[in-house]
Amino acid sequence: MTTNAAAFAAAQAVIPGGVDSPVRAFGSVGGTPRFMASAQGPYLTDVEGKRYVDLVCSWGPMLLGHQHPAVVEAVHRAVDAGLSFGTSVEGETRLAELIASRVPVERVRFVSTGTEATMTAIRLARGVTGRNLIVKFAGCYHGHSDGLLAAAGSGVATQALPGSAGVTEAAASETIVVDYNSPEALEAVFAEHGESIAAVITEAVPCNMGVVEPGDGFNRFLREITAKHGALLIWDEVLTGFRATATGGWGLFGEVEGWTPDIWCFGKVIGGGMPAAALGGSAEIMDHLAPLGPVYQAGTLSGNPVAMAAGHATLEHADEAVYARVAAASDAIREGLTSALTAAGVDHSIQRAGTLFSVAFGTSADGVKDYADAQGQQVFRHAPFFQSMLASGVYLPPSVFEAWFVSAAHDDAAVQQVLDALPAAAEAAAQ
Ligand code: PLP
Repeated sequence: MTTNAAAFAAAQAVIPGGVDSPVRAFGSVGGTPRFMASAQGPYLTDVEGKRYVDLVCSWGPMLLGHQHPAVVEAVHRAVDAGLSFGTSVEGETRLAELIASRVPVERVRFVSTGTEATMTAIRLARGVTGRNLIVKFAGCYHGHSDGLLAAAGSGVATQALPGSAGVTEAAASETIVVDYNSPEALEAVFAEHGESIAAVITEAVPCNMGVVEPGDGFNRFLREITAKHGALLIWDEVLTGFRATATGGWGLFGEVEGWTPDIWCFGKVIGGGMPAAALGGSAEIMDHLAPLGPVYQAGTLSGNPVAMAAGHATLEHADEAVYARVAAASDAIREGLTSALTAAGVDHSIQRAGTLFSVAFGTSADGVKDYADAQGQQVFRHAPFFQSMLASGVYLPPSVFEAWFVSAAHDDAAVQQVLDALPAAAEAAAQ
């Protein structure tokens, strides 16, 4: 049997930093990244045979837990029929129909990653409006395409980088970054550049500077101000889609308030753990995409049949009982977390939207409202907290700027293991 240290050393010899996505490197928490060998239900098992309750869930996709029998069976069936054909398959239509039955989109275009979904959404918005500028919020992450890396939260924040080398000033200059939860900032930007703004892109609920609750009416305000100025609203549900609620982040805002965004971006849950993501919207907007329209987009593995099967089986089984279980497990963990931190005397706020939540250390009673608040927290408390949880067999996101992910497979035993681990971790965070 190998060790995590040996696996990491071997990886570092052939892969930059030993990882294919920076936050996996444990840079901000220290220690040896765990190399997982298998997963089942709510658990991950590393190459040393140590088992962890998984509160990362592959950063969101594993809503049903690992190796859900219906998903595994659907994938096996798809694999037996062939891995990839480079043609259309009926599975794409079936998954698109399923997505359209949950949220009001008329057309869905599949891609392989959330990054591609938002990148294409931006190109589409520019193509539809004939305008150049994009407005994004500081601390929102929309993947790693050039124009969207400014003040991008998440992995960039974890590494304390302002943005990324290699992004040209020209690319960055077409993105205007404004503070989240600030209607005034947005009004000022529209007053100055309204004629040139193609779109505002937002996370339905920001989850990449920790979870940040949109202020009262803030998302509705985004809908209104974009419509007023002829700009599009790009609604990034890559992380929240079909996870925050059965109808995603939209279920908390647009669905209850009676509005829809222009272009939706999905990922994570719709691939059920396989590489699949999508953008969607009205036929009027989406039919600007090639081959019907002039906005080009393509992908060798887009709509891959195995990924479509995993996503379809996941969404099909994500019924009321699934969301109720995810909500119950996430409520129990959140309550345990806040009582453990309170007992240890650690100031904190639990940030929450639907079943998604995160913790911010040392914040004011108001919690985190924007990126400046998120960055101003006592980040140093996260590493000892994380390491203590890890030693107790709980795998948390190795960054304080990430949401905790719970699945429907998190049964009472898994939740109890998390609750039992929290007091010692809270004491460690208090040091
Ligand atoms: N948008 C949001 C809100 C995300 O959270 C992420 C990834 O975490 C992305 C886009 C990018 O997705 P991907 O990592 O699949 O490229």
